[in-house]
Amino acid sequence: MKKNQIITAEITDITNEGNGVCRFDGMAVFVPETALGDTAEIKIVKVLKNYAFGIVNKIIIPSPDRIVSDCPLFPKCGGCSFRHISYESELKIKEKFIFDSFTRLGKLNPQFLPITGCDSSDRYRNKAQYPVSQINGEPICGFFAKRSHRIIPGSDCRLLPEVFSHIAQTVTEYMKTNHILPYNETEGSGLIRHIYIRQAPAAGEIMVCLIVKRSCADKLHELCTVLSKKFPEIKTIVMNVNPDNTNVILGKKTINLLGNGKITDILCGNNISIAPEAFYQINSPQAERLYRKAEEFCQLKGNETLIDLYCGAGTIGLSMASKIKKLIGVEIIPQAVENAKENAVRSSIHNAEFICADAGQAAAKLALKGIKPDIVILDPPRKGCDSSAIDAVSKMSPDKIIMISCNPATAARDCALFEQKGYVTRKVQPFDLFPRTVHVETVCLLSKLHADQHIEIELQMDELDLTATESKATYEEIKDYVLEHTGIESQQFIYRTGKRKMRNY
Ligand code: SAH
Repeated sequence: MKKNQIITAEITDITNEGNGVCRFDGMAVFVPETALGDTAEIKIVKVLKNYAFGIVNKIIIPSPDRIVSDCPLFPKCGGCSFRHISYESELKIKEKFIFDSFTRLGKLNPQFLPITGCDSSDRYRNKAQYPVSQINGEPICGFFAKRSHRIIPGSDCRLLPEVFSHIAQTVTEYMKTNHILPYNETEGSGLIRHIYIRQAPAAGEIMVCLIVKRSCADKLHELCTVLSKKFPEIKTIVMNVNPDNTNVILGKKTINLLGNGKITDILCGNNISIAPEAFYQINSPQAERLYRKAEEFCQLKGNETLIDLYCGAGTIGLSMASKIKKLIGVEIIPQAVENAKENAVRSSIHNAEFICADAGQAAAKLALKGIKPDIVILDPPRKGCDSSAIDAVSKMSPDKIIMISCNPATAARDCALFEQKGYVTRKVQPFDLFPRTVHVETVCLLSKLHADQHIEIELQMDELDLTATESKATYEEIKDYVLEHTGIESQQFIYRTGKRKMRNY
């Protein structure tokens, strides 16, 4: 295969990044914006040793999954990956991604529950961070093109409330009239870096955060008046100062320009106050469903001690606080911890304690103190849990662990690490919180194998009369083997085969 070669092939798979895959000359060719079942004329743009990249010249036979994109920014803007296929096919791709992550990467064998999709795949995001730049001397905002820092102008993203676009445009128009320059990341010049807008869907309260290179409150006061007059739903406007040459959006210092710097939402019946620095789920209706599923997995009886690690503004733990004895939340961002404490008070919750610390370090301290939680919920960022957190949680030996994650690959890795500590990944429930994008959320139930209820055996492969390969040995096969070799009728077991990965049932 050569660069610029034109091939005709059928798309037979879709990667986790949303790229179509076809095979040609024994090589996998990755082709963006294609759909499973497309037959296309493809131009090869890059050839590596074992695979190649192509772009579509012409679709010859369109996939039945195809739909016409309704967004003028797609596919130039890097936000969406699935605007060209139906939502049902997108959900199937996401389910497969999760299944592959847990079975192939994690070598796990949980029960996979069907994905919970969104009622609406349009305008579901409650948060936007528009980068600001300049084109032909005029300030513009938009979204970064895929894998680049080039801004595609256009603020009306179909994933966001329409009002966000009007607010962002009001800011850029004000900048133009008042000669306020956008930040230029190459030269380090200019002032306004990002327009960050967040809405609390319950009452529609909006926060606007202007991220600036240096403190310039005097330049922004009149803009605050303009914005609050035009958009009465804006409850607070803050200025965040980020002087660094960095990709990290928020700086350390935030100054209130209007209101108290927070907006309030209702989530799972609780009053939730959120600061700009605090993490908040971007799709509130789906987050509520996700939290309810986590609660269902917990099977609460009323006397539990529950630890909520990576708790953000405390939302998950607080949603269950009235049904348990004690809640301990741990979060590293101080403003989020402040929100969590305030949120407990606002919702008259008196059995909650929040600690501002690294999850692993706090869990280790709690373990040393002799805290014995019944349930630990972990909801880490995309990179997953630190191994210190997994070690410390295992030491506390909770009966149940609930792993919530927006990255199936690291979730599978972390569940596999918990399996090495004597836990079993029982159930995996995919949740789509991010329609049209490649992202997907998962909630998993892990439970402890109790020493008095399980045995650990070393399987001799040649003694096993398996119908499938070792990695696919069924529960019944292992159960028969255990019974035959030990005389014990076991319901739960871990088995090891030589150096191969341990597996749990
Ligand atoms: N459970 C919350 C937040 C989940 S997002 C919710 O559903 O809203 C992950 C959270 O982990 C973020 O709030 C982030 O600030 C926090 N975090 C990241 N690294 C951490 C660490 N090492 N220790 C504790 N919290 C951390």
